[in-house]
Formats: sequence, C-alpha cells, structure tokens
Amino acid sequence: MKILIAVDMEGITGVTMWDHVTPGHAEYARFRKLMTEDVNAAIAGAFDSGAKEVVVADGHWNGSNILVEELDPRARLNSGAPSPFSMMQGIGKDVDGVFFVGYHARQGSANAVLDHTWSDTCVANLWLNEMVAGEYTFNAALAGHYGVPVIMASGDQTACGQMVEQLGALETAIIKQASGRFSAECLAPEVSHKMIRESAGRAVSRLQKKDAPKPFVVKTPVKITVRLASSDMADKAMQLPGAAQS
Ligand SMILES: [Zn+2]
Repeated sequence: MKILIAVDMEGITGVTMWDHVTPGHAEYARFRKLMTEDVNAAIAGAFDSGAKEVVVADGHWNGSNILVEELDPRARLNSGAPSPFSMMQGIGKDVDGVFFVGYHARQGSANAVLDHTWSDTCVANLWLNEMVAGEYTFNAALAGHYGVPVIMASGDQTACGQMVEQLGALETAIIKQASGRFSAECLAPEVSHKMIRESAGRAVSRLQKKDAPKPFVVKTPVKITVRLASSDMADKAMQLPGAAQS
C-alpha cells in the first residue's frame, strides 16, 4: 500500500493570509513548520492503518516549504521545482491512494481562505471540459489517469466541500472554518493534527476494504478553458499551439 501526499499551504493549520504562505515574509517561517506538522500527522495516519510506503510532494510556490529535517523518517519528500508533475510529483501506477493536505478552494469561492486557481492575479476561472475546476480537479484528474483515487483531504470547510462534491466521498479533515478570503476560525495544532491523523487513517482503512472513492477520470480529448484577468494575458496565451480566444 503506497500513498502519495500532495501538499499545498493555503489550507494548512492556522493559515489565513498571503503573508503566512509567502517565502521571505517574517510570518512564513511559522507556517512552514505548521505545514510540516500537518504532513507528519497525515503520514502517521497512513502508517497507523497499514500503509507500507509514503511519498510526499511539496506543491506550494517553489516546492520548497516542508522542513525535511523534521519530516517523519518513514516518508520520502519530493522537493523543489520545476519537476515533471509539479504538485503531484511522485504519482504513478504504483501509487494506491492520494491525500490532498493543506488544499484550498477554487478561485471565486465564498468563505474560502486564500481561494485561487494557480494564480490569484492572472486566472479568473478555469474549466476542465465543461466542469468548473480548482487545482484539486486537475491534480485529481492526473491521479485518475494512472487509476489512482484521491482518498483524503484537509483544508477549510469550503475546500473540503468542493472536493467531496467533485471527487466523491473522500475522508476530510476540516481544520478551519473560513468566514472570508482572509479570515477563519482556526483550531490549535494539537487538535487539527489529531483530526488529520484520524482522517488519514480512516482513508487508508477504507481503501483496504475497497470502500474508497473511485479514481477521478475525465473524458478525453480534454478541453481546457481559462478566463484570464486581462486581454493582454489572453493575447500571450494565443501563442500556445491549439489556443483559441473567445
Ligand atoms: Zn499554494
């Protein structure tokens, strides 16, 4: 049983502001440590329930946030960027299930901490085929290509709700209640880590009982629609082969 833990930062314990997740800001050091602890809680939950191998993908900013010196030594860490599969580095047919730890809602969501899709300044919205999509949609579709389901997620109530709605009845750890884009009712790390560990454990148990959500498979050929923030961005995007503007 091999688990890939794909990690972002906006849905990590206590995060409510861009300052918290921006390398170089004085606040960032606190939250990369909390990010590492959320990840360790998920690793512990996976091993509690019988996982044999855990690989982590650091998917925020330049992929170099998780403190490797504090990583649970039973796991391995994909760190740095660019890497071939970016936020999903480590995915492949040999993976049995994926966790999304610290994930956030898609751009334009109400009551969602730091909601965005790829870039909060460039991407106004995104569709995969006809489905409005978040980063979780794209990452789940990549896992689905390899026949791997997403079985667990952590983040605020809106992010977790969107993932359950699109990806199926995965296990969730709702570790904050967002009341706006930059505000949330947060839990102490001691509490949120317990929730993440238990949720991860339940997810692996369900996978073993063949009771986990199905892989998220999208119809091919895939049509991707990006609504950009300004028309000059669309002009540049037109240089991509196969691009059309509307
Ligand atoms: Zn991020």
